[in-house]
Amino acid sequence: SRRRLVVANWKMNMNLASTRKFVKDLVVTKEQCTVVICPPYPLIYPLNELVNENKSSITIGAQNLHRQDKGAFTGEVSADLLKELDCEFAIIGHSEVRASGETDEVINQKVKKALATGIDPIICVGETMEQREQAQTNEVVTGQLLQALTDVSDLSRVVLAYEPIWAIGTGLSATPDQAQEVHQQIRATLLKTFGQVAEQIPILYGGSVNQDNAASLAEMGEIDGALVGGASLDGTGFSTIVHAF
Ligand code: 13P
Repeated sequence: SRRRLVVANWKMNMNLASTRKFVKDLVVTKEQCTVVICPPYPLIYPLNELVNENKSSITIGAQNLHRQDKGAFTGEVSADLLKELDCEFAIIGHSEVRASGETDEVINQKVKKALATGIDPIICVGETMEQREQAQTNEVVTGQLLQALTDVSDLSRVVLAYEPIWAIGTGLSATPDQAQEVHQQIRATLLKTFGQVAEQIPILYGGSVNQDNAASLAEMGEIDGALVGGASLDGTGFSTIVHAF
């Protein structure tokens, strides 16, 4: 069966004090679900120290990485450095990063860089409300997916996240049925393109996941976890979401 993951994307939130409180408040007991926290870059090191001190079963991820090994890329962070700081995952192709001009080709390069560095990519795909209304959801999501995975050899370490843009930060989550339907389409495309290995790829749902809707999303057979923004900032509340999966 597929691995299940609940991932916190802190985006540009949190500081040292709130990170300490988060680790203290988080109660993770269920072992079948991997819990990944993706803090802003400067918090990766202190979070890792807190995790080690508390013997917490949190796994650390990055919110992005650069496609090149190193060099003159002001403000960017390399996959090698993230790996050295114990990041096991990286979110790639988040719509908030795509919005600043990141192309599918760059996303594909980042996915390959992550895998080559021993970091598991969490690849985000999703449509706008306008695209959904024009019945383009499957075409958009499938296109993003296949471009992100072009020439990727090790699919067993890939994680996908379906994040409809209209559901991000809006409080308007996709319904469990809406999410399940897109996840089924994604699974069908993966199976057709890559064969049986596709069964191993977890598909997370993201977009206004919270304590109240997590359980009903988790019930769906094709929803293997969640990618959580706003509701991931509080350790107690986030624990409830983790336990739903
Ligand atoms: P919200 O949970 O705040 O809607 O954000 C979702 C998201 O973008 C996670 O990557």
